[in-house]
This record gives sequence, C-alpha cells and structure tokens, in this order.
Amino acid sequence: TEQLNYVKNKKRIHTHGTDIPRLLETFDQLAHEYNVHPQIISNIKAAGYDLPTPIQMQAIPTMLHRRELMACAPTGSGKTAAFIIPILHHLKEPRNQGFRALVLAPTRELAKQTYREFQKLSEGRGFRIHYIEKASTAIKKFGPKSSQKFDILVSTPNRLVYMLKQECLRLHSVEWLVVDESDKLFEEGKTGFRDQLAEIYKACDGKSLRRAMFSATFAFDVEEWCKLNLDNVIQAYVGARNS
Ligand code: ADP
Ligand code: ADP
Ligand code: MG
Repeated sequence: TEQLNYVKNKKRIHTHGTDIPRLLETFDQLAHEYNVHPQIISNIKAAGYDLPTPIQMQAIPTMLHRRELMACAPTGSGKTAAFIIPILHHLKEPRNQGFRALVLAPTRELAKQTYREFQKLSEGRGFRIHYIEKASTAIKKFGPKSSQKFDILVSTPNRLVYMLKQECLRLHSVEWLVVDESDKLFEEGKTGFRDQLAEIYKACDGKSLRRAMFSATFAFDVEEWCKLNLDNVIQAYVGARNS
C-alpha cells in the first residue's frame, strides 16, 4: 500500500469511496490480473500506448471490477480509452441481443472520435459498433424488428431521445452506460441535456446496468448527482480538484 500511495501521490490521483481497486500501472496487468483478451492488449500497444495515463490507472481497474465511477481528469489525458478498454473486456464477444454498451457524448464530433477509438481498440474482435448519423435511417437499422446484431452505441443524447420516443430503440440490454464530458451534459439551458439524460437512464433498465461519468472539469452538481444516484460510487480525480 505504501508503494501504491507513492504512485498515487506522484501521479496526483485522488480517490473517494470504499474498496478502491488497485492501480493499473502497466497494460500487461490487464492480461495477468484481469484475463483481458490478448488481441485487445495488442491493439493498445499498436495504438502506441505504452503505459496507462493516471486516469487510466485508476478508472480501468475500477470499471473492470464493475464499480460505478465518476472520473475527472484534464483534456488530453486519455479518458476515452479509460472507458473503452473495460467495456471491451466485459462485452467479451459480439452477441445478437441489442446494444450492451452506450456512450453519450455532447457533440457529434466527439461522438465520432469516440467511435473511431472504439474501432481502433477493438480491431479483430468483431464487435458491431455504431454511431447514429441520422435518426431516420437508424430507426430502420436498430428498431425492434431488426436483427439486434449490434453491441456498442455512441451517440449524442438528442437523437437517442428522439428514437426512444418513437419506440424504435430498446436499451434493456445495456450493461455499461458512459456519459462523456458529463459536466457539459449536465448544463441546463436550451439543449436540455439533463432531461434527455433522465429519459435515457429510464430506458436503460436492465438489471446489470453500470454507469460511469467522465469529465475534464470538476462540477459540484455532477458530483452531487453521482453521490446521490450512483451505486457505491468511486470518485477518481487527477490533478487539482478545481482545475
Ligand atoms: P481526453 O478524453 O482525456 O481529453 P483522449 O481520450 O481524447 O483524452 O486522449 C488524448 C490523446 O491521448 C489521444 O490522442 C489518445 O490516442 C492518446 N492516448 C490515450 N491513452 C494513451 C496512453 N496510455 N498513452 C499514450 N497516449 C494515449
Ligand atoms: P439532427 O441532425 O437534427 O440530430 P437527425 O438526422 O439525427 O437530425 O434526425 C432526423 C430527424 O429526426 C431530424 O431532422 C428531426 O426531425 C428529428 N429529430 C431528431 N432529434 C429530435 C428531437 N429531439 N426532437 C424532435 N425531433 C427530432
Ligand atoms: Mg474526452
């Protein structure tokens, strides 16, 4: 523990919560300690990621232990891979039971980037990853009459809510719901993200749902929401708390 505290202090990783999983100091630990598929580990290496970033050190093991998470770390610190790697591990292989992971992003550009990172890190695993480009075509593709041969969905909340209202998308099988840039999604105002999030949460009503929120800036209202709503949440902050 002393050694670990040293690393945590050095990397400026702050945590709150109970039974916080041990840091992931190297990606090889994914194989030895978590039995992550070798293809995923080689995809991480092929992406040029030699060592986990500080937020990855804490967020990856937290999610691998299926713990709900609120993570806060600066822009450019690798938050995307921090949630993609545990999701890919938990989904194991493609299945025909509808979306099992859902990632919400505040803008289309960010959703597309996240989609591309999913493709890169899941190369060779056969997962069907989707990004909703147009609500109208997505309705045909993902509706209840479709094959349900898809695994991962990345979307902005607006289109998703529209599709849920049309009853052309079911989210009962979602096991991981990730809200990226959650501070932005929680802002009130004309976009009404908070209401949209509530609709989406309502639709993700499977028994095994786990949630994780990621953001670059600390926001008190997000923290309050997480403490109130998430199950035994682990909070992980990298860098200054109010940066
Ligand atoms: P954030 O969401 O925190 O702003 P991103 O997930 O967009 O950050 O990552 C920023 C950059 O860092 C990306 O180009 C990504 O490919 C790269 N990156 C992610 N993880 C690592 C890592 N472990 N080592 C090196 N580069 C990484
Ligand atoms: P957008 O680019 O506006 O998100 P999409 O091409 O994804 O549109 O969706 C197709 C159509 O679905 C939109 O032109 C709009 O008519 C409708 N739509 C999407 N989101 C909503 C919403 N939240 N409320 C009402 N209609 C919506
Ligand atoms: Mg990001």
